[in-house]
Amino acid sequence: MHLKNYMEDLVWEKLGEMMAKQQDMCQCERCRHDVASLALNSLPPHYVVTDTGEVYTRVKGLETQFVIDIVSAISRAIVTVRAQPRH
Ligand SMILES: [Zn+2]
Repeated sequence: MHLKNYMEDLVWEKLGEMMAKQQDMCQCERCRHDVASLALNSLPPHYVVTDTGEVYTRVKGLETQFVIDIVSAISRAIVTVRAQPRH
């Protein structure tokens, strides 16, 4: 059994799509992780108990519930990191 912050998965998934559209932005690992940590710090965690492989079918519906908050948190994080990259 594992405890997992499902919000983290959702943020990484959206972050990939959103950063790929920012063509003037650095896509390095450091910048990606900075965007992810800033976004996650402004979002509530959502812990789920998982067996390997089970998590996605169980909590898929949560994505639509959180997606607006996630997109706005990532947008703010992208603005911050793009202005002052730490790589
Ligand atoms: Zn970078």
